[in-house]
Amino acid sequence: MLRNDQLEQWDRDNFFHPSTHLAEFARGNVPQRVVTGGSGCHIEDRDGNRLLDAFAGLYCVNVGYGRSDIADAIADQAKELAYYHSYVGHGTEASITLAKMVLDRAPDHMSKVYFGLSGSDANETNIKLVWYFNNILGRPEKKKIISRWRGYHGSGLMTGSLTGLELFHKKFDLPLTQVIHTEAPYYFRRPDLDMTEEQFTAHCAAELEALIEREGADTIAAFIGEPVLGTGGIVPPPAGYWQAIQAVLDKHDILLIADEVVTGFGRLGTMFGSDHFGMRPDIITIAKGLTSAYAPLSGSIVSDKVWKVLEQGTDENGPIGHGWTYSAHPIGAAAGVANLKLIDELDLVTKAGDVGGYLNKTMSEALSDHTHVGEVRGEGMLCAVEFVKDRDSRTFYDAADKIGPQIAAALLEQSNIIARAMPQGDILGFAPPFCLTKQEADGIVAATKRAVTSVLG
Ligand code: PLP
Repeated sequence: MLRNDQLEQWDRDNFFHPSTHLAEFARGNVPQRVVTGGSGCHIEDRDGNRLLDAFAGLYCVNVGYGRSDIADAIADQAKELAYYHSYVGHGTEASITLAKMVLDRAPDHMSKVYFGLSGSDANETNIKLVWYFNNILGRPEKKKIISRWRGYHGSGLMTGSLTGLELFHKKFDLPLTQVIHTEAPYYFRRPDLDMTEEQFTAHCAAELEALIEREGADTIAAFIGEPVLGTGGIVPPPAGYWQAIQAVLDKHDILLIADEVVTGFGRLGTMFGSDHFGMRPDIITIAKGLTSAYAPLSGSIVSDKVWKVLEQGTDENGPIGHGWTYSAHPIGAAAGVANLKLIDELDLVTKAGDVGGYLNKTMSEALSDHTHVGEVRGEGMLCAVEFVKDRDSRTFYDAADKIGPQIAAALLEQSNIIARAMPQGDILGFAPPFCLTKQEADGIVAATKRAVTSVLG
């Protein structure tokens, strides 16, 4: 237990928290939690609470908390060599080994991995690479990027623009003009309730095609999407979606960036979401699950097709003008190597698929009939419950009613379980660590039912 009883005050006085209502926090109206430890699927706080973290931090602590294999690898690396850069051909045993481990797991047509620090900077890298690619190919006009409404790709200038959530644009002068958005593959929120799933897929592809035609295919460089929408509401795509989208992109010579920051390294029960849905991306973004967040590390995996052009570019222009001081940081890389080994040893990708499937099934059985549950959906170790005011007419609550946040708060208060009220819509999201047991899943489901009943009757 921490003894410093000034932490709460120091926190309010000094700490600028991300994604926080700053004024309410400063006034003391936002609850504080000082997290002190973690083991398996649980975290502990300084007040002695033990909480089941059914969102794995920010869907990132995939192997669970307290893994000494990874902690030891980090400590050993820090003692042996805490840092060296990776510019102009430098590397470390950890970073080179991790690059091989990533490529061994990635789809066959991928060629190299560039390491960054966060999902946001990896997507920033991706857009620069796409622009460079088209400049080298002599297509300087082909630069716009298509993203989806409700997509989440980070919160930088470019990546916040790619993100299709209002909160990340409002008052920040985003999105930048090079970014355009298309329909979210969100069957539950389809524009016409009579549409079948197949018709909705065709509608999404037609919307994309119309956008491309309006803008001109020769102005569009790439399309970015998460295999399963994450922060936008945890929404698996409708049947046949990726095949339909990929066909439109191929037709117009537009690159596909699969943002696998959440889905990479097992969350869907397959190593990558691209494998899961038969996508053929030109670039894959990785982060969170690469190290299970034991240290910050991200990556951009580029395909043979992109790599060839990058090589050509450096032959023509000299070294690539892109790099971070901390690219391929040895401590992050050591964490990544230990993390991927652990995932293999414990067969956690299979477990994520099995227990995730069980969690989705039992959640659906427990809640689908509730008058105010519009949908229970998920894929692998991702699950969401969406609340509606009226099921038949699919009427949503006002955001001001804060139904999602109220249910998340009830779940925490009644059962010490952390789920996430997703930022747009009344959606309760679950993304537990892959080591979740079926018994823990049962506990989450029973507690969620209790929380929903206490708020909505
Ligand atoms: N891409 C996806 C799909 C994400 O879910 C996130 C973060 O949640 C990001 C990118 C941004 O990653 P980071 O927060 O590490 O910058």
